[in-house]
Amino acid sequence: MVGRLLRNELLSAYTTWGVGGVADQLYLPVTINDLARFMRALHPREPLLWIGRGSNLLVRSGGVRGTVVALTTGVGGIEQLTGGAVRAEAGASLSLLASFFRRTGAVGLDFLAGIPGSVGGGLAMNAGAFGGEIWDLVTEVEVMNRRGDIIHRSVDEYQIGYRSVRRRQAEGGDEWFVAATFNGRGGEAAAGSGAGRLQQLQQRNSSQPMALHSCGSVFRNPDGDFAGRLIEESGLKGYCIGAACVSGKHANFITHGGDATAAEIEALIDHVANAVEESHGVRLQREVRIVGEAVREDG
Ligand SMILES: Cc1cc2nc3c(=O)[nH]c(=O)nc-3n(C[C@H](O)[C@H](O)[C@H](O)COP(=O)(O)OP(=O)(O)OC[C@H]3O[C@@H](n4cnc5c(N)ncnc54)[C@H](O)[C@@H]3O)c2cc1C
Repeated sequence: MVGRLLRNELLSAYTTWGVGGVADQLYLPVTINDLARFMRALHPREPLLWIGRGSNLLVRSGGVRGTVVALTTGVGGIEQLTGGAVRAEAGASLSLLASFFRRTGAVGLDFLAGIPGSVGGGLAMNAGAFGGEIWDLVTEVEVMNRRGDIIHRSVDEYQIGYRSVRRRQAEGGDEWFVAATFNGRGGEAAAGSGAGRLQQLQQRNSSQPMALHSCGSVFRNPDGDFAGRLIEESGLKGYCIGAACVSGKHANFITHGGDATAAEIEALIDHVANAVEESHGVRLQREVRIVGEAVREDG
């Protein structure tokens, strides 16, 4: 099976903020083998960006030069292995992985249910909520390099922190997640607060602006504090630049109804960081990743 290669594809359709210019080319692989074949055929120095559901990504309006690999439709298998382990491919949605866990009697990933990302994006970000983090249950990952080789890596090979994951020995070039194996029995400790899945989803619905375009929390929580609290105390709830606004429901969300530009969102991110630093002396660090060119350089 062969995936689809799209030229000059608008990335706004691939992000939850719904903004962003075109990628020179975008590949939608269907299987890991198909993806490996595509990677092998690329020029070794082709600029490359892998994305999942674009739920933690601000793409600037000038778009992305080179190739974007989007694991949005394919590479999404989930299977139960012997001994209760679960293997999920990077394109599977986090919500689907959470429900697969429940269906098969595995425990510990309920907290992923309301996070609108992919397994690959979740691994890259160490997605988490309600006291749990995805890497708490990972036993092994499969990564792909530019040559399309698949390498199995153990958890020990990574330095894992709050919304951050880094390979300890980063030599050998870029690589991306194509699958992970999860311990289906190790979840009790990782489940953290122990709140049930429905309760967690209700909590999300009541505290987050789910009906508007957003990217979830824009900033990481600083040690011992909450970015949302600092933003709210800086008087920024409801503050807008153009059509991009600091959510009145959750101050760490920047939302819009469909008409904001990437530049407005980015200007608001900078404004919030500066205002919080001025009022509280804390420089908030972005959780959201910003990619692409502000204006397309070739005009
Ligand atoms: C309403 C809402 C609520 C949210 N709530 C939460 C929450 O509770 N907790 C939380 O942690 N996050 C939350 N998020 C943020 C987001 O969903 C997570 O960060 C998610 O893990 C991102 O996954 P993605 O597939 O969308 O990644 P993308 O946004 O597509 O990519 C994010 C980063 O990961 C990289 N990446 C993507 N796929 C791969 C891959 N296969 N290999 C290597 N790198 C890759 C990208 O290059 C990029 O740097 C929320 C977002 C929204 C919109």
